[in-house]
Amino acid sequence: MQAIYDLVRDVPDFPRPGIMFKDITPLLADANAFAECIRALCDPWRGKGIGAVCGIESRGFIFGAAMAQSLNAGFVPLRKAGKLPPPVVGMDYGLEYGLDRLEIGTEALKPGERVLIVDDVLATGGTLDAGRRLVERLGAEVVGASVAIELRGLDGRARWVSDAPLHALVSY
Ligand code: IMP
Repeated sequence: MQAIYDLVRDVPDFPRPGIMFKDITPLLADANAFAECIRALCDPWRGKGIGAVCGIESRGFIFGAAMAQSLNAGFVPLRKAGKLPPPVVGMDYGLEYGLDRLEIGTEALKPGERVLIVDDVLATGGTLDAGRRLVERLGAEVVGASVAIELRGLDGRARWVSDAPLHALVSY
């Protein structure tokens, strides 16, 4: 796991002054570290009957799609507003500044399907919480969530009100 810490780059004042951005692109570019990361992200969910991995746009697609392959599950994108063709259902959620919206195809999940939600970073937790509520709106079962990085100082875990486990690979 040390390789993962070593390959995540801190970028101060991006995308806005005062934000310390965790840049995962050096990790993705390292074949061995990326493979180890996907293995470790998947390990808690093996044998749990995951039918679909829902990855959150956009970096959640990168981890989520690789995890879906490794878990022999389907991949379903949770996208920003206006990107998916209709019919969709959407969920508005609060960001540090302003509002955002996630959408999912109405037919993308079967009722009762066992779903894992994936994103790259857990910060304030609003994005992951919106993803959970969308999946539940379609009647699917949220078995858990995985993020590559948890930023503990922002207490996003407190917004994960589900009993389903939230797993973070590394935390700062
Ligand atoms: P939250 O809703 O505040 O938890 O923010 C999480 C979302 O913002 C995720 O979809 C991340 O991709 C993105 N995000 C927040 N902070 C960072 C960061 O430091 N690096 C990369 N993505 C971030």
